[in-house]
Amino acid sequence: MAEQPTPTEEQKAQRAKELTAEAKNQKALLKKSDRQVAMVFDLNKCLGCQTCVVACKTLWTREEGMEYMWWATVNTLPGKGTPKDWEKMGGGFRGEEPQSGKLPTKAEFGEAWDFNYDEVFFGGKGNAVHLQPSGNPEWGPNWDEDQGAGQYPNSFYFYVPRICNHCTNPACLEACPRNAIYKRKEDGIVLISEDRCKGYRFCMEACPYKKIYFNHVRQISQKCIFCFPRVEKGVAPACARQCPGRLRFVGFLDDENGPIYKLVKKYEVALPLHPEAGTQPNVYYVPPISPPRFDAEGNIDESKPRIPTEYLKYLFGDKVEKSLETLKAEMAKTKAGGKSELLDILIVYEWKSLFGPFTKDPADLEPRKA
Ligand code: SF4
Ligand code: SF4
Repeated sequence: MAEQPTPTEEQKAQRAKELTAEAKNQKALLKKSDRQVAMVFDLNKCLGCQTCVVACKTLWTREEGMEYMWWATVNTLPGKGTPKDWEKMGGGFRGEEPQSGKLPTKAEFGEAWDFNYDEVFFGGKGNAVHLQPSGNPEWGPNWDEDQGAGQYPNSFYFYVPRICNHCTNPACLEACPRNAIYKRKEDGIVLISEDRCKGYRFCMEACPYKKIYFNHVRQISQKCIFCFPRVEKGVAPACARQCPGRLRFVGFLDDENGPIYKLVKKYEVALPLHPEAGTQPNVYYVPPISPPRFDAEGNIDESKPRIPTEYLKYLFGDKVEKSLETLKAEMAKTKAGGKSELLDILIVYEWKSLFGPFTKDPADLEPRKA
């Protein structure tokens, strides 16, 4: 057999370049989608009731290995959230360069604790025992709930619901060496292929929102799937459908008649969380309007907002000032007897107006065949 020629250094360098280009093309294909679904959360309406969280938990994360997973969370801000101090864990992009991030531990998310129900309810010990988690947990999904910040009487907090942002430029997808993460062509939902995932967890390090969990039983990564089996049938995701506050809007970004387009593009009042992470999230937030401050005598002090603007800029970027100005101007308009399309959208007189094309009742769907 003729001996194979040894490639020159130049040929090797050329091949390495081609491989890099090939890998980039593959990633670009995985990121491509024709349309994009999105959510908008109006933070002025969230009650922190956790109904959305429980709806998601009940529907999607009840299997073994998923006990500690909460794909939908609602945390108090300012606060450390879940996983603990996720905002300091890095990931995302700087320019086009992926940034390394920390791999959150199970303890930072918070374990799924057992409680001493038997002892309290059936132990016959009366008031001598209280319901408490087993072990000595040091953090959990809502450990710092309602703590907030500031000094009485000007203390403040607000609730921030979070799910995977189904980003246009997902850091998780970019980081996966198995190309197991992809965006669906028809709606841009970001999914992890459980067959391809080998549990390397680079996605967890890379996601700046730390919205991926590791299933220690199945040895794969798992996350919010935007309820795609419901969305495909015209039903809104469970978290949105169950929310009693009517604050979770769902729809396509390019649907000019839908609430998402109007809130994000037309009025520009809904903004992504930590846009500087460079993943181009498709979950947007209407920022909280500050309640008034009080001075030492208990009189209203309008010299500055109770929620520091700098803090809101840290969360939502510089556009937050413009968003708040627009909201206040529209409120002034209606107070003066005028009409406001923006406020009519945000008030949500009729629940169906939240969900664009996803207003079908799950009860009306054909039952799934066994
Ligand atoms: S939020 Fe995180 S997990 Fe979700 S698509 Fe963006 S980078 Fe990926
Ligand atoms: S169900 Fe609605 S109001 Fe309750 S915590 Fe979730 S987003 Fe907030």
